[in-house]
Amino acid sequence: MSIQSNIQSIRTHIPSHVRLVCVSKFNPNESILEAYETGERIFGESKVQELCGKYETLPKDIVWHFIGHLQTNKIRYIVPFISLIHGVDSYKLLTEIDKQAAKAGKTVHCLLQVHIAQEETKFGLSPDELLEMFEAGAWKQLKNIQICGLMGMATYTVNKDQIRREFNGLKTLFDQVKQQYFSNETSFCELSMGMSDDFQIAIEEGSTLVRVGSSIFGHRNY
Ligand SMILES: *Cc1c(COP(=O)(O)O)cnc(C)c1O
Repeated sequence: MSIQSNIQSIRTHIPSHVRLVCVSKFNPNESILEAYETGERIFGESKVQELCGKYETLPKDIVWHFIGHLQTNKIRYIVPFISLIHGVDSYKLLTEIDKQAAKAGKTVHCLLQVHIAQEETKFGLSPDELLEMFEAGAWKQLKNIQICGLMGMATYTVNKDQIRREFNGLKTLFDQVKQQYFSNETSFCELSMGMSDDFQIAIEEGSTLVRVGSSIFGHRNY
C-alpha cells in the first residue's frame, strides 16, 4: 500500500470535526511530501532535532505538532514555529514553555498529557495531579501559553474494552476540566487521543485529534 492510499482509507474513518495528525517521526522528507501532496498539512514529530531539520527543509505551510517527551533545555528550538505541543506532562514544563514563549514574544498552544494507561512507562499527569494543578490556579498567571485541551495514550493491549474505558475516562476528565475552568473559553477544545491501532475507538469516545503514524507511513526503523 502506498502512503497516498493509506491516507485515503484512513480518511474514510475520520469525521469532519476530527483532525488527522500524520505522525512522521523517523520517516524521511520524501514520505512527508507524499502525504503533503494528498493535502495533509498537520505532521507530528517526537524528537526536537529531527523536527527542526524537517521544519527547515519542508514547505512552510506545514503545521507542526510536537508529540514526544519535551526536555526543558530544548523548548526554545521549537517555540518559534510549533503549532501545538501535545505532551506537556508537568507544571514545571508548562512554566518553562511559558518562559521561552515570552522571550520569543509568542503564545504557545499546549495540551496536558494525562496518564490513562496501565503501563508504568507512559508519561503524563495522573488525573488527580491534573485536577490539583488546575485547582492550585497558578497556571492562570502563565500568559504565553494557552492550554487547549488534554492528550492521552491508552494501554497497548488487544483488549478493546479496556482501551475504550481509558479513552472514555479521559473524555470525562476533559469535560470536567472544561466545565470547571474553561466554561467561557472556546480555546479549550482539543482531546488528542487515538493512534494507528485505536483511533477509531478514540473517535467514538470523543477524540478531536488522532495521531496516526505507522498506518500511514508503514513500520518505523528506529
Ligand atoms: C509514535 C506515536 C504515535 C503514532 O503511533 P502509531 O502507532 O505509529 O500510529 C502517536 N502518538 C504518540 C505520542 C507517539 O509517540
